[in-house]
Amino acid sequence: MHPSGSPLFRFDNSYARDLPGLYVPWKPAEVPSPRLLFLNAPLAEELGLDPAALRSDAGAAIFAGNTVPDGAEPLAQAYAGHQFGGFSPQLGDGRALLLGEVVDRQGQRRDIAFKGSGRTPFSRGGDGKAAVGPMLREVLIGEAMHALGIPTTRALAVASTGEPVVREKLLPGAVLARVAASHLRVGTFQFFAARGEQAKLRQLADYAIARHDPDLAGAPGRYLALLQRVAQRQAALVAQWMNVGFIHGVMNTDNMTISGETIDYGPCAFMEAYDPRAVFSSIDHQGRYAYGNQPLIARWNLARFAETLLPLVVEDEGEAAAERVVAEATAVIDAFPGLFEAALLRGQRAKLGLADAPGEEDAADAALANDWLVLLHANGVDFTLGWRRLADAAAGDERPLQALIADTPALQQWLARWRARCASEAPLAPEQRAQRMRGVNPWIIPRNHRVEEALAAASESDDLAPFERLLSALRDPYEEKPEHEPYAQPAPAAVTACYQTFCGT
Ligand code: AMP
Ligand code: MG
Repeated sequence: MHPSGSPLFRFDNSYARDLPGLYVPWKPAEVPSPRLLFLNAPLAEELGLDPAALRSDAGAAIFAGNTVPDGAEPLAQAYAGHQFGGFSPQLGDGRALLLGEVVDRQGQRRDIAFKGSGRTPFSRGGDGKAAVGPMLREVLIGEAMHALGIPTTRALAVASTGEPVVREKLLPGAVLARVAASHLRVGTFQFFAARGEQAKLRQLADYAIARHDPDLAGAPGRYLALLQRVAQRQAALVAQWMNVGFIHGVMNTDNMTISGETIDYGPCAFMEAYDPRAVFSSIDHQGRYAYGNQPLIARWNLARFAETLLPLVVEDEGEAAAERVVAEATAVIDAFPGLFEAALLRGQRAKLGLADAPGEEDAADAALANDWLVLLHANGVDFTLGWRRLADAAAGDERPLQALIADTPALQQWLARWRARCASEAPLAPEQRAQRMRGVNPWIIPRNHRVEEALAAASESDDLAPFERLLSALRDPYEEKPEHEPYAQPAPAAVTACYQTFCGT
């Protein structure tokens, strides 16, 4: 309890209440020495929590897992998943727990969940623990994505535990408190579908609909409608990823949400020089989750989601309808590339400083955007700075862009086309167009070398200052401020060339 007598969290736990049998009630492990490394005050306020109260020792004890706050009903969720294409029928919260749900100030239900809170019945060989570095990475990337306007789970807090975790070497342990619109994944559906537990599957699907698409609740045909909604959300999400150069790195079906939020910042990375084949994860040998493959993988994952829903639809409509039902689901999956392309182009138009003009100009605008990317690729241009310097060109200063792109004739040719396209719209003052572009083309993204540097200082030297400085730059991605300059520069090419990210840390 808070000293004032009001509880720290006002939990309302629909998952625990509505879905018995789909989870295991479980408690976080005790740890020796809780200390709060990070508290997300703006997010706490969004959730109707009191940041000052959470910054106390009581708050540290809660976020490290030692105290279960009043009203929480911690539980480990069951889920399965295709990992790198191979099906694992039982994954589940092996080192995570859903603590409970709160309804935020906007009336939205949000999960508060732990990661790194100890072993559960789903841990298999794992220790259930997490290390400081990877949990602070969740903070940095989640806050960066949020500031970029990309749907994402977010870190509410990170507490260190005072306990080492054994990885390639000993690392300081930590627990992350993560906030999500829900932790429902494609893999959650796969778990019950694979076991043929159709009643539970239906409960789960109806729960997902009530939570994320309440307008569909109870409607006939709601499961295919849910598939459609998830397809729309994922198309929009992956398009946003592509437009900031984000590589998730481990798009397994257990890491694809029903809500359309990005989840699990493990081996993720932001691309520097534009290259559709860019891949950083040390275990992604085939490039399955390479930058340019992400839309294809999203579609593949959606097909796996569709497979879990089909038995429910057939049960509702009768065996005789099976063929038609499969055809309808297939049509949704086949429509995904179109949804993605449309969302991508919408974002690209904004990045190009063009007003959204769906319809007539689509093919020409897509070609214009694509040829820009070809130019970036051919010249090894930093994706983020390339777009950013195009805004300078819109304002009338081409020099910063020329400094990035060596092939002057190709650049001039492309700029001429772009200028003509801009001129085809209602007149807009150059500085105004540039401002519009600077509002959607970030100057600051989480540069991999800066992230690593901040995490190393926190993990190895208990120095959180670099993390805090980087975080404040990431929360302010669109404005060019002299103090943020170091975060805007790409790593030396030699550093990027050997940059690797690691999974499951
Ligand atoms: P992830 O790669 O983080 O999406 O996790 C995939 C699966 O591995 C999930 O079921 C996790 O709960 C589980 N897992 C990852 N790390 C650990 C760990 N240290 N201990 C137990 N389970 C883990
Ligand atoms: Mg995961």
